[in-house]
Amino acid sequence: MSVNTFNYCPICGSKLIKKEIGDEGKMAYCDTCNKPIFDMFNVTPIIMVINEFNEVCLLKQNYISKTFLVFISGYLKKYESVEEAIKREVFEETGLTVDKIEYHLSSFHEATQTLRLGFVAYVKKQAFHKSEKEVDEIYWFDLVEAEKYLNPNGFSTQIYLSYRKKTSNWNW
Ligand SMILES: [Zn+2]
Repeated sequence: MSVNTFNYCPICGSKLIKKEIGDEGKMAYCDTCNKPIFDMFNVTPIIMVINEFNEVCLLKQNYISKTFLVFISGYLKKYESVEEAIKREVFEETGLTVDKIEYHLSSFHEATQTLRLGFVAYVKKQAFHKSEKEVDEIYWFDLVEAEKYLNPNGFSTQIYLSYRKKTSNWNW
């Protein structure tokens, strides 16, 4: 049983049964509410922000990593679209306004039960207004230089490489 699987209905509190549903096989099901109860997980957009000078926005967030710089990230709020969440998070953390959003790839992070969605967001270069609470430092780095500040085994590097691959004519 994984951590975020329900045994009891989160709406009415009834004990859930296992029921055969379509192609999904046996699923947790509430007989009182008459609906399947899906596992819970978080959705986190991870956003590589880039400006018209090909500079990448990197954050120092000590609560996330003391070693590496990171991209902007956040959790989706209920009723919010992913696009709205991205614009909100980028603005909250950096003060920048997103002009265009481009989806790249996703990855499920088991330890935090989080589906991570990798995006590139395009902005015009402007002064930062950083979040005092969540962001310790904030920088623009040249696209090529930015790679060495990222965790080489992290999801941010996957987004970075996906972007490089897409925007270069090199043979990768
Ligand atoms: Zn129920």
